[in-house]
Amino acid sequence: MDSLDALIGVETPLEVVSAALRTFAEGVGAAAVGAYQVCCSDESECICSGVLDREFVFPLLPDLKPGCCGAFHTVTLGARYEWGAVRVAEEHFATPEVRDGFKFLLVKINAHAAVERAAEGWRYGWLQRYGNESACCGALAGLFEGSLLPAIVELRELFASGGLDRLSLLADPRWVEPRYRALLAAVVSTHLQGMRVVRDIQEFVPASPTVFLVVPCVTINRPGADAEIVVGQYGIDRTGAKAEVRYAGLGNDPTAYRVRHDGDRVIITDERWAKR
Ligand SMILES: [Zn+2]
Repeated sequence: MDSLDALIGVETPLEVVSAALRTFAEGVGAAAVGAYQVCCSDESECICSGVLDREFVFPLLPDLKPGCCGAFHTVTLGARYEWGAVRVAEEHFATPEVRDGFKFLLVKINAHAAVERAAEGWRYGWLQRYGNESACCGALAGLFEGSLLPAIVELRELFASGGLDRLSLLADPRWVEPRYRALLAAVVSTHLQGMRVVRDIQEFVPASPTVFLVVPCVTINRPGADAEIVVGQYGIDRTGAKAEVRYAGLGNDPTAYRVRHDGDRVIITDERWAKR
């Protein structure tokens, strides 16, 4: 997992992240590889999904039909994980090759936020789309606009989990600069979705021994080539009787994040993570 640690919190080209995930998967000695991606319904996320296909899925996954392979997908408003989906994905990739070893299953979750240059510097949450200024991610923007769509109600409950009112903290300029609100809401959201996937993995028995890598990310939809931030990485070893979980990455308390820029790239640190 060390090779991926350098990417945590640092905006990185999509191709570089997916290639790093491929290098990691190639190094674990698995008999087979599977992939499951969770991303937002927003059409701007097709680019991120396509890069994962090109750099990870096509080189590593088994053929579904001759010359054709694909990741398991959940595509929902706000990149919400659908409980139980990782169990179905795991069963699909429990191929005969795993009989004498283990398989590696990547679970990549992408929340997203657009970025544009404004008078005050980089501003997140708005995209010039087909000639209009468009909220991006629109689902996460709905959290702050009182939307009562079922998807947004579900997200709102998740943001309040564990007794921490993350939405109020994100909306409070004493904690979060308004121009960074959409970016940090996406970080919180993908982290919380990642935790749900990990809980799900811990609560079922895989069809064959599996090492899971759960990677919550945030796509940065830029005016030019998109990029992404790896928020963290969970390694979950389900090759033995008991699930072993390791995590490295940012947390989900908005008061702990610090945001800076290195040229065009955003870098997010977490005060508590840095002190560990
Ligand atoms: Zn979205």
